[in-house]
Amino acid sequence: MTLPLIVDAHEDLAYNILNFGRDYTRSAVETRRIESESGSEAPLYTDNALLGWPDYLRGGVAVVFGTLFATPIRRREGEWDKQSYADFSQAHRLYRLQLDTYHKLTDEHPDKFRLVSSQADLEGVLAYWAQGGEEDSSSTAEKPVGIVPLMEGAEAILSPSELPEWWEQGLRIIGPAWAGTRFCGGTREPGPLTGEGRELLEAMADIDFTLDLSHMDWLSARQALDMYPGPLIASHANAAALLPGYDGNRLLPDDVIRGIIARQGIIGVIPFCKFLDNDWEKGDRRDGITLETLAAHIDHICQMAGDALHAGLGSDFDGGFGLESAPAGVESIADLQKLAPILMAKGYNNEEIAAVLGENWLRHLKINLPK
Ligand SMILES: [Zn+2]
Repeated sequence: MTLPLIVDAHEDLAYNILNFGRDYTRSAVETRRIESESGSEAPLYTDNALLGWPDYLRGGVAVVFGTLFATPIRRREGEWDKQSYADFSQAHRLYRLQLDTYHKLTDEHPDKFRLVSSQADLEGVLAYWAQGGEEDSSSTAEKPVGIVPLMEGAEAILSPSELPEWWEQGLRIIGPAWAGTRFCGGTREPGPLTGEGRELLEAMADIDFTLDLSHMDWLSARQALDMYPGPLIASHANAAALLPGYDGNRLLPDDVIRGIIARQGIIGVIPFCKFLDNDWEKGDRRDGITLETLAAHIDHICQMAGDALHAGLGSDFDGGFGLESAPAGVESIADLQKLAPILMAKGYNNEEIAAVLGENWLRHLKINLPK
């Protein structure tokens, strides 16, 4: 039996490569061992690793969206964060370096990673995975993982006139916010779409960029739903309604979820303990939080849609969190396959499970990547 393919719509791979020297050709367990032996500070700041090519292979992870992400310096948590910027030109340099990092990774390891910026790139990767994911972890079959570049926080874009250049370099998805930006309100920094934000979105639509609503303040997300004519998604976000007492703006309110569904968009749910249980804090044990809770977010989206075509995965693993902050039972990304029996117990059939784990994102890419 083969596993359904997983597509993960949010991983900060370039950030981790540049900031902590992580090598994603290795397994997560290998990275954890090396970081432990070398006294690396990475696990302290971003938790232990959950990602690596052998884990992708074992878990049937065929495609990931690889982010370009740097921290605005006012939100930097310490000197260790070298991927932080004080002004827009610095942001531009860092984000370009991260995009170059994906080009370098895929040039150096074409057997393990391929850049996916077109239909042909995607077909090329999927041909290797045509038999589905691996059931047998001892398999040595070489299957490259596709990486679709996604920009998280758009302050690196100095002017909308730069967009064709970013597109040329392979960027396909843009989220204008992380914290608030000059384009719109963002996480913990509420606000509307600004004039510059509207200009950016208009220019993005002209080129057919996919808009990522994750991290946009609710007001700006609602405005973007009204005005953005192009494809839109939320690469990594859970449902605010399922966290009693939640009063932030990072998770999605139901009307925004409905808006994304109505626009044929997809929402990637995040297996992050804090976004599954409002009372959980970094450093708490993860035993009480399970993939069942994550499945409830998937089900919430599917119930609203009336089908299983709009929920997907956006793990954010090795982003702001890793092993210590993922639900119990998740030792690497391969364990996201454990969602399949949980969804089956909720009444989802094999086709619906495959849709949620990967096929929905693949459909989005098949429609929206250029020929
Ligand atoms: Zn994020």
